[in-house]
Amino acid sequence: MSTWETTEYKIAECPCGTGHVVRQTSTPDNPWSRSHASYRVQCERCSKEWAPSRGLLTHIGDQREYDDFWRATLNAADAIDTLMEPEVEAYFSDPRLKSMSQERREMEKLHLGPRDIRLYRQGRNANMKYSKLCHPYRNPAWLMALAGKAGKVAELTELIVEYDEAQRAHGAKQVRRITFRDDSH
Ligand SMILES: [Zn+2]
Repeated sequence: MSTWETTEYKIAECPCGTGHVVRQTSTPDNPWSRSHASYRVQCERCSKEWAPSRGLLTHIGDQREYDDFWRATLNAADAIDTLMEPEVEAYFSDPRLKSMSQERREMEKLHLGPRDIRLYRQGRNANMKYSKLCHPYRNPAWLMALAGKAGKVAELTELIVEYDEAQRAHGAKQVRRITFRDDSH
């Protein structure tokens, strides 16, 4: 059985100034375990607004919004890929693309990625779909031309707007952070 000794240090004032950021260090009474540090905000108001980590407070609400925008961006990109999957498959199944390197060059020309030929070959040999081996959503103009032939312009337009808006919101979102010195260990 081993026991831990816990020590607390006040290492900074909390953002509102009425409480503190506290570093909690648990030290084992044996030499083979390492000590463990954690942080908490000792202030009723600030503990709801700020998440502490080593040397840093991150605004919880800002971070949540930032993550939500990022998730919305990924979801819209996924929805675009799913909608256009049959057309993307047909495009790259063209017999004029005779080898995997030709397919990949075509993808590069269209700015769809992918960069790594080895991974590309692995994916193709595992029968992965073309739409999963590149990023069709990265070239809306090309997709729009494919959508035109498939009667999917309205649906695709809606998803592209959704993607652009989510991406803009994600890029514009500032996550408030406060750094503090932490040399009490
Ligand atoms: Zn506070």
